[in-house]
Amino acid sequence: MSHIKNLIPKTINPDLQKERNAAEFSVQEFAAWWQGGQEKLDTKRTVENAIFSDLEDGYGLNHEYMSHEDVYNSAVKKAAEAALKLKALQKKLNPGGNNIWPQSLFNVHSHGLFPANHPLATHITMFVDVIKGQGTAEQVEKWGKAAENCNIIGTYAQTELAHGTNVRGIQTRADFDPQTDEFVLNTPNLEAYKWWPGGLGHTANHAMVVAQLYIDDVHRGIQMFIVPVRHADTHLPLPGVDIGEIGKKLGMAAVNQGFLGLNNVRIPRTNMLMKYAKVERDGSFKASPASRVNYLTMVYTRCLIVNLNSTLLLEAATIATRYSAVRRQSPIEADQPEPQIIDHVTQRLKLFPEIATGMAYHLAAEYMWELYDQTVLDANNGKFDRLPDMHILSCALKVLCTTDSCAGIERLRLSTGGHGYLTAANLSNIYGNAVAAYTYEGENTVLLLQIGRALVKAWSNFIADKPVSSSYAYFESSKQKKFPKWDNSWETIIKALQFTATHKTRIAFENLAERIASGQSQAVAANNTGIEFTRAADLHGRQFVCQIFVEQITGPKAQKRSASLNKVLENILELFLVQTVLNNLSDILRFINLTDADLRSLQKRLELSLEKLRPNAVAICDGFDFHDRVLNSVLGSYDGNVYARLFDSAKRSTMNQKPVQKSFESYLKPLMKANL
Ligand SMILES: Cc1cc2nc3c(=O)[nH]c(=O)nc-3n(C[C@H](O)[C@H](O)[C@H](O)COP(=O)(O)OP(=O)(O)OC[C@H]3O[C@@H](n4cnc5c(N)ncnc54)[C@H](O)[C@@H]3O)c2cc1C
Repeated sequence: MSHIKNLIPKTINPDLQKERNAAEFSVQEFAAWWQGGQEKLDTKRTVENAIFSDLEDGYGLNHEYMSHEDVYNSAVKKAAEAALKLKALQKKLNPGGNNIWPQSLFNVHSHGLFPANHPLATHITMFVDVIKGQGTAEQVEKWGKAAENCNIIGTYAQTELAHGTNVRGIQTRADFDPQTDEFVLNTPNLEAYKWWPGGLGHTANHAMVVAQLYIDDVHRGIQMFIVPVRHADTHLPLPGVDIGEIGKKLGMAAVNQGFLGLNNVRIPRTNMLMKYAKVERDGSFKASPASRVNYLTMVYTRCLIVNLNSTLLLEAATIATRYSAVRRQSPIEADQPEPQIIDHVTQRLKLFPEIATGMAYHLAAEYMWELYDQTVLDANNGKFDRLPDMHILSCALKVLCTTDSCAGIERLRLSTGGHGYLTAANLSNIYGNAVAAYTYEGENTVLLLQIGRALVKAWSNFIADKPVSSSYAYFESSKQKKFPKWDNSWETIIKALQFTATHKTRIAFENLAERIASGQSQAVAANNTGIEFTRAADLHGRQFVCQIFVEQITGPKAQKRSASLNKVLENILELFLVQTVLNNLSDILRFINLTDADLRSLQKRLELSLEKLRPNAVAICDGFDFHDRVLNSVLGSYDGNVYARLFDSAKRSTMNQKPVQKSFESYLKPLMKANL
């Protein structure tokens, strides 16, 4: 295929180069800031060199043409090879640390290694973390270390065929047998088969099975059990274990989601995670004294998801923005040459708000990580007061980020016209990876309802003059009869969102109370108030994201950045805030009297921020420092040689490896010659 390789020039597309030359800030400074410092940026690049340098040409696109099985097997091969490289690199660069191994196996580099997603994702993000969070010291020593080192591979098996959201409804059963000091696990019916756990199909040899515990037929709640499911050497399913893969999905082909049925499978009593709840040798049971601590694991996972989905959105934005700088079409003045499509104002509206949105969520996640570290310290000192708040905020961030990133990725795909429909653009694949997070780790609507209920509870405390936590402090704004005059400042935008969120919460509370007063039970009234709960919850999350974005860009951290970088960042912030107001006008206008002049001014601000972002858009995307392997897109590579790459990828299509397909002789020719 040497003639194909030669198709792609070694030069940078001149339009893209022109964009880079015109940037008004230092991309290098942006990239170092974005990665959390020059040292982290250097490490990231070193890791990428190590894991990408010997991948075969065109590797990223190959999985689209592979069989279901080959996609999986090749991803496992890459994972094993990368693990060895990362371990060696960790030893060389930072012995004893964990910033390269295992951390680098599951961060943005992995998007380059595993375009069909990560075969060890659930092992790393769920199995290992749950053991560390819920296991006793002995269990962490025995299972946690082996898992972290990939000596055993696990999955997290909670969801069943008939129950996902309602965990209490799961039916897998673990009965304690005092004679043998074992638990006996059973799947009582088809509906109770475990369904969805990542890696359960053929990768994991252990499963963290979530089951209803019974001792002497007395129900003792839902507990977690480490269950070996495959033989350590042969990898064959163990006796009583019915295991397999659930079939092809919208995306995540390499994740190998599986099903699991258990028939009288016996495990030692010590395989139940017992940091909190305990079953003693004599069968006595101690309930968990610290269920609040479970929040921490959930907060951690949700912050990871925000990191993941904001990154996927920015990958898509980078692809679409670079493509929009290279693609020329449709003169604006009839007698002028065709412009770069990024010069059509509506195209900017499709691209730039997504850049701003991805950045807003990335920075919100960064803030949450700082809060998380502080909360862990507090929890270790027996202080848990921050936890419920952290839980609600992390739910809100997870919901908004996954919802907005999926919608944004699809908008970006559409912004690339026809070529974005090709899998080689990688936008459909990125979408497939992103949209899964809408559902897992708490389905988004279900989480919004939880947040809504927490808001209404906080509101009832607030109006009863009881203390409320700092994240609801903005309820104070309800004491103003009218929203102050609109003055176009960022502060006013935040206050407007808070004022609106407050009144949406008030209305949800009032309608709930009215329904209860009319005779509906609390639960039925809450169900009937669901739409209002979710809207209030959405706005609660949005005011938080906006507030943090303002803080991260204009707060003390700004002093560490150059004036030119801050100017660009402030413009991105301006775009995000104005866009958030415009997107939520129907709610805002219900409570705040914006004049026609105010609305016109918001529209002007939107247009101006798009215009100001125009010269910097490509450079900002460069600043995210996505390796070409990570973007994996014929439309988005750094060199911008879009048409050559499109043609190259078409030539690589497996169908183009022979001039005539076999269906011609068998079907097409007879049809054409049939003369019916
Ligand atoms: C890609 C992927 C990976 C996954 N990985 C794992 C894994 O590793 N391990 C694991 O155990 N599970 C995993 N899951 C399962 C996942 O956790 C569940 O799919 C998720 O919890 C949603 O549950 P469900 O599928 O039962 O949806 P349902 O709960 O049936 O949701 C269907 C609809 O009903 C609505 N609904 C449900 N309950 C309520 C309510 N109380 N109020 C209002 N509306 C409601 C929802 O909003 C939704 O619109 C994965 C799923 C996916 C898609």
